[in-house]
Amino acid sequence: MELLRIPRITQDSCKKHLLRGRSLGFVPTMGALHAGHLSLIKRAKMENDVVIVSIFVNPLQFGPAEDLDKYPRDIEEDIRKLRQEDIDILFLPDNNLMYPQSFSTSIEVGALSERLYGKFRPGHFRGVATVVAKLFNIITPTRAYFGQKDFQQTVIIKKMAKDLNFDVDIIACPTMREHDGLAMSSRNVYLDKEQRRAACVLYRCLIKASDTVQSGVTSGKKIRELMKDIISSEPLIAGIDYASVYDPETLEEVDEIKNNVLFAVAVRIGKTRLIDNIFLIL
Ligand code: AMP
Repeated sequence: MELLRIPRITQDSCKKHLLRGRSLGFVPTMGALHAGHLSLIKRAKMENDVVIVSIFVNPLQFGPAEDLDKYPRDIEEDIRKLRQEDIDILFLPDNNLMYPQSFSTSIEVGALSERLYGKFRPGHFRGVATVVAKLFNIITPTRAYFGQKDFQQTVIIKKMAKDLNFDVDIIACPTMREHDGLAMSSRNVYLDKEQRRAACVLYRCLIKASDTVQSGVTSGKKIRELMKDIISSEPLIAGIDYASVYDPETLEEVDEIKNNVLFAVAVRIGKTRLIDNIFLIL
């Protein structure tokens, strides 16, 4: 595994692979790697000649009061896991090389960024779109892999790639879960034992909502009420940011459920914000 830190050198190295006719599979991450990240990497390995993983805790996507400084980092352990997966290139850029003092460009994807998570983390998706555009230009991937756990992020990246003609296939991969259904997340380490137990309510709520729609309920309002009731029944939930049913393409709330829908939740447990979603094909 090659470890590269300098964008220009990484760009040259990736271009050389492309010139030799090799496909490049790219998995962008913020590190603290878990089995969810590894599932993306395994998929990228299956479908490409060369696999590149980036680890970069992108300051642009964190608000001033958010957890940038204490975001979990364990680079030694990450490198060990990546060697085990036998990836080709780890891109580990330095913050100053990604964002020199003169840096001033940003990418706004529009309305999709204002919905769900965007309402509660203003500027978050501008930061995500900007860093992903930079990474795409550095890596020039054939395919890039994103988790369905961050469904909104995947929709926004697909839109950005389409609008700006990035020549890359965006591939959405299923959410990896713990044995009790909790979606794997680097932020789960923030939870103490009781909070960890309480966090299962997210998946429980999503499954119940999906089962209820499958049993014939089509009212978005009823499903929203049901989801909020289930989450509120867990005393350790400090607040619900959203819990609702959405159109998976526009990310708008659905009032009458007729076609495929996305159930999505974001809650706070202590100071930790957790998100999850499931998709129902009708
Ligand atoms: P992050 O390091 O949290 O920015 O995540 C990097 C990538 O891994 C994103 O595309 C996430 O959607 C994806 N990811 C995070 N958690 C999971 C999970 N539990 N299952 C599958 N993919 C995930």
